[in-house]
Amino acid sequence: MDGGTEFVDGNALAGTLAEVFAVDVTAALARCGSCGETGPLAGLRVYGRAPGLVARCPGCESVVLRVNRGPGAAWLDLRGATCLRVDLPD
Ligand SMILES: [Zn+2]
Repeated sequence: MDGGTEFVDGNALAGTLAEVFAVDVTAALARCGSCGETGPLAGLRVYGRAPGLVARCPGCESVVLRVNRGPGAAWLDLRGATCLRVDLPD
């Protein structure tokens, strides 16, 4: 895949993911399934040339998540993350 070198930070995921999750997940912590680096989704490198958004690990460039907003549905691929921690109020 041509990842190119132009990307924006993970805050670019906020709009589409806000439709899927009831909380702002850009602050959620994701652990990269490839290198184990853990950080907020806002710290991922987001590439938008593929269909939808592709978010890559800043440590190893592996794909952590993909999200594609199509007509009537969103497709979320999290196979590149071993876990996603979302802080919630008690
Ligand atoms: Zn990584």
